[in-house]
Amino acid sequence: MYQQAVASAERVFGLMDEPSGLDTDDDAPDLSVSDAVVEYENVTFGYDEETIIEDVSFDVGGGETLALVGPTGAGKSTILKLLLRLYDVDEGTISIDGQDVREVSISSLRTSVGYVSQETFLFAGTVGENIAYGSFDATREEVIEAAKAAQAHEFIEELPDGYDTEVGERGVKLSGGQRQRVGIARVLLQDPEVLILDEATSDVDTETELRIQESLDALLADRTVLAIAHRLSTIKNAETILVLEDGRVVERGTHGELLAEDGLYADLWGVQAGMLEEIPTR
Ligand code: ADP
Repeated sequence: MYQQAVASAERVFGLMDEPSGLDTDDDAPDLSVSDAVVEYENVTFGYDEETIIEDVSFDVGGGETLALVGPTGAGKSTILKLLLRLYDVDEGTISIDGQDVREVSISSLRTSVGYVSQETFLFAGTVGENIAYGSFDATREEVIEAAKAAQAHEFIEELPDGYDTEVGERGVKLSGGQRQRVGIARVLLQDPEVLILDEATSDVDTETELRIQESLDALLADRTVLAIAHRLSTIKNAETILVLEDGRVVERGTHGELLAEDGLYADLWGVQAGMLEEIPTR
């Protein structure tokens, strides 16, 4: 056992010594958000040598929604990862209220920018703890309030121990739709000014879809949102839609404007709405 522990410890310390891929400054000031305007200026990025995002520029006004659409592999998730600083841009700048995301502390950035993904990760612990994750000083009342707004309160109440029910690997298994609502409650509690939303494509039943939609409405209200959008309602409500292809912006406008343009967006839309079998080659 000792030998095994030594080997494990070496691997753990080896990992801790691994430099972070990000160039961070421990003394960087905190991000200060007032209007929550997000701006990408001539952003270029590649994971390796290959360029994945090429010269992308856009801005999202405070409280507005930007929807990113485009074929798989176009670079939608990559663009959003750059805002959270999971990676740093190679060229150009990304700023929030005029502050370059590379020049503010990572902790303040990740407090102000919330993230709702397709798959909510549940930690070993109770469902209440899972909602409070990241807002550890939240009271039970605040947790319940967030769960109610996320349309999760009802099903949580029906679990064997309510909010104290163990979930995650060893606990009660929650359905995809339930996990998503726990994820939404978690971010509602965090209350970030800017929200990154990666909408799920997975099929859920109509009732669950309706519930998720209502909880998303609560989350999106009064926030600046950057979304990888699949839902018609998110897309229609977006002030701007960016259509990406191979890491470049090929079209931009509102749903109506882009349909009228009859380009890639109109084709993607046709496929989604079931009117076309596949994207026609032009
Ligand atoms: P989308 O979200 O539009 O489907 P992504 O941003 O996920 O597109 O991917 C864009 C491109 O970047 C793809 O070619 C993908 O293979 C590549 N890519 C994504 N993540 C990584 C990574 N961590 N390392 C290397 N290449 C990646």
